[in-house]
Amino acid sequence: MGSDMADKTLFEKIADREIPADIVYEDDTCLAFRDINPQAPVHILVVPRKPIPSLDDLEMEDEILVGHLFIAAKQIAQQEGLTGGYRTVFNCGEDAVQTVPHIHLHLLGGRKLTWPPG
Ligand code: AMP
Repeated sequence: MGSDMADKTLFEKIADREIPADIVYEDDTCLAFRDINPQAPVHILVVPRKPIPSLDDLEMEDEILVGHLFIAAKQIAQQEGLTGGYRTVFNCGEDAVQTVPHIHLHLLGGRKLTWPPG
């Protein structure tokens, strides 16, 4: 195995079908799959193919990419029948308990969500 393989993030491995996931959407820029530890009846991660570690690493050139993730999330919410609403979240860094260093937009719905989050 070359170092490129070893350096892949967990979500790149899912994108490359090296790790199984329930993929619900994909296009040239991103893919989306069900969270393995769902916090709501619908809990999907929308992940860019580009392995940006965190929101802190975003560059101006990523402006369109980030907008694309929200457009994809909106389409997936419709696909999942989330007519009552939904929440989208990026966790960034230790205080937000980001655990996977490859940005991902959480799409949560299917129940009444509380606010503020814990
Ligand atoms: P965060 O804490 O914002 O970094 O979110 C990472 C999310 O990835 C968590 O909600 C995990 O449950 C989820 N996760 C970790 N491994 C997998 C996996 N193999 N397939 C799907 N979701 C995963």
